[in-house]
Amino acid sequence: MAAPRPLPRLDAVNRAFWTGGESGELRILRCADCERFVHPPRPVCRWCLSERVRPVTVAGTGVVDTFTVNHQKWHPEAEVPYVIARVALDGVPGVWLTTNIVGCPAEEVDVGDRVRVRFERHDDVWLPLFEKCG
Ligand SMILES: [Zn+2]
Repeated sequence: MAAPRPLPRLDAVNRAFWTGGESGELRILRCADCERFVHPPRPVCRWCLSERVRPVTVAGTGVVDTFTVNHQKWHPEAEVPYVIARVALDGVPGVWLTTNIVGCPAEEVDVGDRVRVRFERHDDVWLPLFEKCG
């Protein structure tokens, strides 16, 4: 169980990202004009200012780029320690997700680990967390 946290407020722009887990899909916005990925979600492409940004389903796998282990009990229901990581997504150049690595002890996480997405539902939000492959 990951640490409880404030949930995002859904809107037309970020809904695809936060609810893709309902279909088991990790969705990242991509610009239909310059084809670059846009994350965090925003209504206008950060690169070419196009408004033609659309969610696309990506592989949902990646590599731990960097991480830290949190030992502070910020929330009364938080289980510590837990891992906060930055994951470089496969096939999504220029996007790094800040997330949690779950499903294994914190001391087993390392830079370069292959990970895959695992969604955790809270109300109408599916948080994209990651677990080690294999
Ligand atoms: Zn663009």
